[in-house]
Amino acid sequence: MSVTVAVVGRPNVGKSTLFNRLVGRKIAIVDDTPGVTRDRREGQGRIGDLYFTLVDTAGYEDANDDSLEARMRKQTEMAIAEADVILFMIDARAGVTPTDEHFARLLRRANKDIHLIANKAEGRAADPGLIEAFALGFGEAIPLSAEHGLGLADLYTVISQAV
Ligand code: GDP
Ligand code: MG
Repeated sequence: MSVTVAVVGRPNVGKSTLFNRLVGRKIAIVDDTPGVTRDRREGQGRIGDLYFTLVDTAGYEDANDDSLEARMRKQTEMAIAEADVILFMIDARAGVTPTDEHFARLLRRANKDIHLIANKAEGRAADPGLIEAFALGFGEAIPLSAEHGLGLADLYTVISQAV
């Protein structure tokens, strides 16, 4: 059975960019059932010789009756429930925001394998964010640039430990 990896975090940190990079063209499911699940994308991710199921918790930007916070909570709880590995993504350039702290509180309750990912980490502009990230309580953040494909070796390491 394939390991399931979920990318979780507030909007605009780069979750879908990472999803598209790791899944490439092989997007398996675009789920359009009503409710929060319609925002969920799943595909086969690959880093080198490592294959896994990747879940992108996308799209709570869409119009919905629920509040943004309620939708984020539902999506995060769903991801927590079904994932073996959770990649908690922040934007290293933006630093830690109150919404990131909100996600951290939700994730802290989960008894799962959680790795903090500091995306947009290409260049020195990310350095303060990488230090700030320790305050979230998930240890050292893995610096990543989903857009430029940097940091994937460290991602390989944490995912391969769960396979
Ligand atoms: P999501 O809402 O978390 O799924 O974020 P998206 O993947 O839609 O990305 C949000 C924005 O961040 C887009 O403009 C991306 O081009 C940009 N972005 C994503 N990854 C990176 C990165 O590694 N570096 C930089 N500088 N921008 C990025
Ligand atoms: Mg997205």
